[in-house]
Amino acid sequence: MHTDTISPGGLDWQTQALCAQTGADFFFPEPGSSVREAKRICGMCEMRPACLEYALANDERFGVWGGLSEKERLDIRRLDSR
Ligand code: SF4
Repeated sequence: MHTDTISPGGLDWQTQALCAQTGADFFFPEPGSSVREAKRICGMCEMRPACLEYALANDERFGVWGGLSEKERLDIRRLDSR
């Protein structure tokens, strides 16, 4: 793991991202289609915590980030803002 090389707010983690190798198609599925494959890839990705943090911090609305669908992230943000 190279988490000590991640700078806060930086994008270094994206160079380690598995989805950068598989292509973005899985991660931005058509509305209503499955996010299962994207989540499976996220599950093997070392950068998942940094990715999720980035998505939450930058209010990324669309697609799968850090193993969570856009709806799941919305739920997290709702809980956070309580
Ligand atoms: S957690 Fe998923 S979306 Fe995030 S960098 Fe890894 S593979 Fe990509």
